Amino acid sequence: MASKKEASISRGVFQDADCERPACDEMKAVLPESMAELEEMKKKYDRQKKVECPPGSAELGLGTWKLLHSMTAWYPDQPTSQQKGRMTNFFQTLADFYPCTYCAEDFQTNLEKSPVEAESRTDLCLWLCNQHNQVNQKLGKPLFDCNMKNLDERWRKSSASKCNK
Ligand code: FAD
Repeated sequence: MASKKEASISRGVFQDADCERPACDEMKAVLPESMAELEEMKKKYDRQKKVECPPGSAELGLGTWKLLHSMTAWYPDQPTSQQKGRMTNFFQTLADFYPCTYCAEDFQTNLEKSPVEAESRTDLCLWLCNQHNQVNQKLGKPLFDCNMKNLDERWRKSSASKCNK
């Protein structure tokens, strides 16, 4: 003999008997009333399912710059020698393993010409801003006006009401 749950599923999906709590009323409104409707919903979901692709260089770059500028915006004003060493290593490792090959090669060259400046938050933020501007220049993008007021406004604490909800 079919259990109560099986019986209720075979009649459709979720019968009143399964569902005494008020929240169920909302659920019933969105749940299918029959197995056929459920199958149709599944097919529709599969058709609409968003395919998530591996990032290309622009998407990867945008995400990476967001992380890097946010990290430098919150770097200590007076870092310990261990923090300075770790931050320097972090950028060297990033340049070694950055998964856009031609971006990584140029970044390595730029690091050799202009090594990481991790003595203080200000030094590091301005150094990274200049690194980013070198890439901007190469790609013909607008340059950012690198000063701490602009950088903190963009990456640490914005004064725009939209950003403070
Ligand atoms: P992005 O350049 O990603 O910038 C994101 C946001 O940062 C901007 O909207 C702006 O608000 C802010 N911003 C812009 N400039 C500065 C700055 N100087 N200081 C602080 N904030 C700033 N792409 C290539 O095609 N070729 C490359 O060789 C290449 N090299 C890269 C090397 C590295 C290390 C990284 C992280 C990315 C590299 N990219 C490269 C990707 C490229 O820099 C961009 O990220 C990508 O083109 C997307 O650009 P975007 O217009 O969305 O804004």
